[in-house]
Amino acid sequence: MNVKNAALVASYAASSGMLIKCPYCGAKTISLSDHCVCSWCEALIHKKISETSSGALSQAVSAIGQSYSSKDYNAAVSSCDSAYAASKSAWFLYLKGIILLSASNNETSLISYDKPGFMEENAAHRAAASKLYADSRLSLYKAISEAGKVSADSKALDTTFLQFIASFKLKDKAGAKHYLNELSEMGNTLASSYAKMLLFNLNGLYEESLMHAESLLTKKSFSVGALYYASLALFKLRKIPDAKALVGEAIKYISTPSALALHDDIMSFGKI
Ligand SMILES: [Zn+2]
Repeated sequence: MNVKNAALVASYAASSGMLIKCPYCGAKTISLSDHCVCSWCEALIHKKISETSSGALSQAVSAIGQSYSSKDYNAAVSSCDSAYAASKSAWFLYLKGIILLSASNNETSLISYDKPGFMEENAAHRAAASKLYADSRLSLYKAISEAGKVSADSKALDTTFLQFIASFKLKDKAGAKHYLNELSEMGNTLASSYAKMLLFNLNGLYEESLMHAESLLTKKSFSVGALYYASLALFKLRKIPDAKALVGEAIKYISTPSALALHDDIMSFGKI
């Protein structure tokens, strides 16, 4: 993995000025082509789609982003419901699933081990985290099933990618493999390389995941999310100096809780 090169391509992409706004979560992703994977929610997004969103739907989309940033997960989830009602796009069921997952992780982080006498409070956080986790899985499964309610020959790349990424978030390896095969037949290099990078990662095959990440850090085929997955793979392979250098680049462009957590883990490697 040539970290220097990857960092150069990312900074070239950032300076090229192409930003695609996600029509689902509202985040902006640097891109070198007219489509990319959203750096926040990992939806497959296209310049054309992102320009057409308007009215009630665009209000709901901006409310999702605002509520999430202020950690008001209930409000973010209810804005996902409104956006789904207005658009019938299964991407909002998916987005609701990943916001609920974040909310569940947040509850877990509130459990405290250094407050004697607070065990009841901890039990309440654990119960809330489990409930949110179960709701998250339900919404992700619903996204896959709703997206699948189209005939096989009219199935778009976008729909198949949604089914793949939702299966990945569910850690459903067999489901993810199934949709990856469908994606590979569709002949979109960016979508299928991104999916391979994720599935190899899920299967613990970090060398292979890294290889696909590297193929997505070129001017010809670029996805900013590959900075995160390459950092993760380098970390798992214990290539610490490279992982440190790359994760520092990743967080310049990706501000998800997982990217920030990975940055902390890599930077504090070796300390207890
Ligand atoms: Zn997004």
